[in-house]
Amino acid sequence: MNDTVGPCRPETTLPSGPLHERGIWAMIGNTPLLELRYKVDGRPRRVFAKYEQRNMTGSIKDRMAAWILAKAYHAGVLRPGDVIAEATSGNTGVSFCALGRALGHPVRIYMPDWMSRERVDLIKSFGAEIVPVSREAGGFLGSIDQCEKFACTGPRVFLPRQFENVANAEAHELFTAAEIERQLACERLVPDVVVAGVGTGGTIMGLSRALRRVNPRLKAHPLEPAESPTLRTGKKVGKHRIQGISDEFIPAVVHLDELDEIVDAHDGDAILMAQALCRSLGLAVGISSGANLIGAMQRVEATGGDAVVVTILCDSNKKYLSTDLCREEPVREGYWSPRVELCSFRAIPDPAG
Ligand code: PMP
Repeated sequence: MNDTVGPCRPETTLPSGPLHERGIWAMIGNTPLLELRYKVDGRPRRVFAKYEQRNMTGSIKDRMAAWILAKAYHAGVLRPGDVIAEATSGNTGVSFCALGRALGHPVRIYMPDWMSRERVDLIKSFGAEIVPVSREAGGFLGSIDQCEKFACTGPRVFLPRQFENVANAEAHELFTAAEIERQLACERLVPDVVVAGVGTGGTIMGLSRALRRVNPRLKAHPLEPAESPTLRTGKKVGKHRIQGISDEFIPAVVHLDELDEIVDAHDGDAILMAQALCRSLGLAVGISSGANLIGAMQRVEATGGDAVVVTILCDSNKKYLSTDLCREEPVREGYWSPRVELCSFRAIPDPAG
């Protein structure tokens, strides 16, 4: 396999296989980079954010799901007809369901039973089997455990293992980061800072590795919910409402020693920011996108206001219509969103897209 890092598309890196034959790569990646203009306490600022709902199933997770499957086919560990089984809190499940069905695989998803109604119905709509796991049965960690046990029951089960698979971070290192580099280069900019909420950690690890080759002084900040500081404490603490990040443990994909200071966002603040993006700018994003934007804005202030700070708008609001994202959220002391006036955005297309 050609592991060249740089501005390339997946089909040129892995030239054969079913994803390539079906043109799936045309439906994944090459998303716009938004230059978001805003004011904080009246001071004009900007951040750059990847608009990931433009992927096949509407989230950033399509990138790593497709890359894991493409590599597995290439290595011969995934064969036609194999069951794809994964533990996931949502978006990954939707990605593996869609890609799995597109490639003719049965899909089985293990997930905590408190995930939003939309996520469950979405996964069911692909004809996938859902195994709900209660808090008493171990919640997220219990889901992973049960999924691993299922794989031992039959020879034709493929486990993507997103929390430990190196292809996860690699998808962002090879492709998401290459797009960001190209898009910023169109503006004659290089990234100074990247901020991304940690679910598996694939996004922040992949982006930090690749973007440090563009700017060796790049700061890469993992983000977690203030209410549930798993990265800071190493264990499950508290509860939070930012679905998709902070899954109760530090995944093997995450190497905190390669990253800079952990930043956090309150879940209520993330909800308010996501609501504001939708109301003020028409950007209908999910809760983790609001959190990422808060983290990015914090780093803009911490670095003097001029740094080129990049973050991710991971998915759309569609999977959260039954959650607090679509209810009145109280403003609390210490929140960022009341200090921020969102002004405008401009989409920078991927020149290689
Ligand atoms: N936001 C959302 C909505 C997600 O689904 C995920 C993935 N779990 C993330 C953020 C975090 O991405 P990563 O797994 O690459 O850390």
